[in-house]
Amino acid sequence: TRSRSVRQFDYLVLGSGIAGLSYALKVAEYGSVAIITKDYANEGCTQYAQGGVCAVLDAADSVDSHVEDTMVAGAFLNDRNAVEVVCREGPPRVLELVRLGADFTRNNDGSLHLTREGGHTNRRIVHAADLTGREIERALLATARAHRNVTFFEHHLATELVVDEVSGQLHCFGVDVLDQHNAGMCRFLGLSTMLATGGAGQVYPSTTNPHVATGDGMAMAYRAGAAMSNMEFVQFHPTALYSPPGSAGSGGAAGAERTFLITEAVRGEGGLLFNMKGERFMPSYDPTRLELAPRDVVARAIQDQMLSHDNPHVWLDISHKPAAEVREHFPNIAARCSEQGIDITKDPIPVLPAQHYMCGGVAAGLRGETSVQGLFACGEVACSGLHGANRLASNSLLEGLVFADRAAGPSVAHAEYASRNCGRQLHYAAASADFSGPRAARPLAGPTAEWVAAKRAEVRSLMWETCGIVRRTAALQRAQAQLAAAYVEVKAVYKHYGVNTQLVELMNLVTVAELIVSCALQRRESRGLHYSADYPAAAAETAPSVISSSLKSRLD
Ligand code: FAD
Repeated sequence: TRSRSVRQFDYLVLGSGIAGLSYALKVAEYGSVAIITKDYANEGCTQYAQGGVCAVLDAADSVDSHVEDTMVAGAFLNDRNAVEVVCREGPPRVLELVRLGADFTRNNDGSLHLTREGGHTNRRIVHAADLTGREIERALLATARAHRNVTFFEHHLATELVVDEVSGQLHCFGVDVLDQHNAGMCRFLGLSTMLATGGAGQVYPSTTNPHVATGDGMAMAYRAGAAMSNMEFVQFHPTALYSPPGSAGSGGAAGAERTFLITEAVRGEGGLLFNMKGERFMPSYDPTRLELAPRDVVARAIQDQMLSHDNPHVWLDISHKPAAEVREHFPNIAARCSEQGIDITKDPIPVLPAQHYMCGGVAAGLRGETSVQGLFACGEVACSGLHGANRLASNSLLEGLVFADRAAGPSVAHAEYASRNCGRQLHYAAASADFSGPRAARPLAGPTAEWVAAKRAEVRSLMWETCGIVRRTAALQRAQAQLAAAYVEVKAVYKHYGVNTQLVELMNLVTVAELIVSCALQRRESRGLHYSADYPAAAAETAPSVISSSLKSRLD
């Protein structure tokens, strides 16, 4: 069966996290907006953000100091213009959220309470207790749902961008979408398209990101010919709760669930790390700072212990502290661990590093523009240059807000240009003339479902072993060859089977994995989140890594 359904809107927004929703609200003042999102609208990284969103709002703070902190965290690979723009325009954007109704924690005098996080020289983190993302997502969603120009398409999976060459320049006309309710394909055509599909944590076996974070937007943009940047900079959190395979938190065979973070404060309060033989290992990696060494040092030590002893996790132990104190400091962690039968006042906690954030993505300019005309990108899917080689805490929600706002103007201008120059009907007709629609989706038959799940698990373990926290050139080369072979296999199954959510996600995961490995191979130094055992020092001269596809054949 073939579906020929074509829908038309002025603006298409892929993804409904902080980036997509903020953008949608801006362009909705100028025309019709479709928000296409692959699960319920609230699912995505945004709603899990705990700490907060930073903004220079304190009289003692300054934009210059926020700029400096961001550059230091990013190991000076940041684009200073992007950093300045975000730090300067951040405060008014955060105050806009307040006006929309986001209920942030306040001081007794009614002013916004600002907290402080690692890497920040001042108090500048606006938060809603420790559930900041949930409150921001709630406020944005409520406003967007109430807007008459906005239509939500939930459970709609964007599969491929519709791009065409016009006078030697790539243009985006819309996106092909799998409606997961009726398993039918449809094409959405728009004058401007915003990619706000978030990150790609699911490329790794352990991640704090939800199941939707399969890097679809990155892979789609790459296949469409957009330039990608800094994909090697993957942030890992050193201590996430390990759940044994098959248990509730492990996500079953596909391992698709998020892992639960065990905050750094547990180490701050005296928690010690042991390997599975019961040996305390931090003294041999960082004899002075021990468990309180910086995140990347601790994460490297844990990965080294796990890989060299072939162990699935290490132990984090706080049970030597008074039980009442532990329970008082860490009520949420105690509750979550007890679901797994762990009493943190008596037992050590099984932990492992977990992928947390992608600094790289679709190369985007200061107005969210990509190398494809009519295609904009913001939020975690994009590489705006803000983070450089590592992300400063609480800068990512801010990045989404600022670039969503900055991209609105040029999107409206592009939409006007597209409708004026081509004539809207001509534009739509030209783009959809050859749309016959890929085959409608069908559920995967038993053996294929098993194959897809096994391949997904294989790719994820390969990425952890070869392109995790410590990288080696030979292993990266092996991964590159294995991933190229996996891509060919997956593509063949996809061609035979037709569109299906698991298959599309697997294809995208393999593509994103290939991009991470390729960028990691390009970088012959260690900087920020990229640590190469073969090139342990930082190079004197450095530049962002850039990669783009001339492999149009991949679309065939
Ligand atoms: P997301 O919020 O991830 O939204 C992406 C959207 O795209 C989702 O709606 C998803 O369903 C949709 N989508 C994906 N693929 C498709 C497709 N193919 N078709 C249609 N829709 C699709 N950052 C901070 O600044 N401060 C913090 O305190 C903080 N804490 C964090 C804690 C956790 C546990 C995690 C996981 C992240 C945290 N971050 C934090 C990072 C931050 O939450 C994210 O970087 C940010 O929310 C990304 O927003 P986004 O809008 O780009 O993407």
